[in-house]
Amino acid sequence: MPAKTAMRSSLERYRAKRDFSRTDEPEGATRKGGTSDRRYLIQKHDATRLHYDFRLELDGTLKSWAVTKGPSLDPADKRLAVHVEDHPIEYGSFEGTIPEGQYGGGTVMLWDEGTWEPIGDPRTAYAKGRLTFVLHGKRLKGEWHLVRMGGRSNDKRDNWLLIKSNDEYADEKNGDRALERYSTSATSGRSMTAIAKGNKQWKSKVANTSKRLKPAKARKVVKKRPRKRPRKRPRKRPKKQQRSPSASPPRRPATRHRVLSSRSSQPWSASRRRATTGFMKSNSMVIVHFAASITAR
Ligand code: MN
Repeated sequence: MPAKTAMRSSLERYRAKRDFSRTDEPEGATRKGGTSDRRYLIQKHDATRLHYDFRLELDGTLKSWAVTKGPSLDPADKRLAVHVEDHPIEYGSFEGTIPEGQYGGGTVMLWDEGTWEPIGDPRTAYAKGRLTFVLHGKRLKGEWHLVRMGGRSNDKRDNWLLIKSNDEYADEKNGDRALERYSTSATSGRSMTAIAKGNKQWKSKVANTSKRLKPAKARKVVKKRPRKRPRKRPRKRPKKQQRSPSASPPRRPATRHRVLSSRSSQPWSASRRRATTGFMKSNSMVIVHFAASITAR
């Protein structure tokens, strides 16, 4: 029974950070029994900084690590995994948006889910800071390690490393292969943008309508927004897009400058750059705009 008390309090930190009248995240309860199929999941979380929340069910809650760069398939990569507060089991079905201003405000995508299988006793391993386990996810499989870094346990940040074992699921040449290959939700198929525009969406609701939801509903919501929101929203949108890597400007003009500037030994002044790009007929507006944005940096 003392274990039960420990479970209860393990969610206190989680609850203290959130206002459940404002966020759709679950308040949560610890789960009793049923440890044979331990849940594993990763939530891609576009908060202040994009990160991947790696969660493993243990003792009725989800042990959680925020992996800044996401999991790597390359065994040589050691990805920083900041240990964060335990989350309720139901959190593993959460996909949607946490309102701005609330803790962790931003978009949450269920990037992967499945079960995990500890190698050895998971409680002892977790306490020692050396977990080895097999993932049976939709996207991540095979053996992995979570290793607590040296340092005092009372340090503010509890840093661990997420490391892929060398097995058939490893990829030494492209550790980011899984992250690059899968950009949509493992459960609803939605992109981050679609989730951000679709408001809260629970897995249980999505599961019934997933076939229809992707093409029809998601697109409809996208079109609706600008009409519905008169003035406040447009100002917010560009700010968000700056964060997404896909929003970064194309590289090609920069290459042209390099090629051009190699002809003259002089560095390019803003006015010269503008004058030169003015001669370029095709896409001249784009290039001038881009040149201006470079100058502005
Ligand atoms: Mn997070």
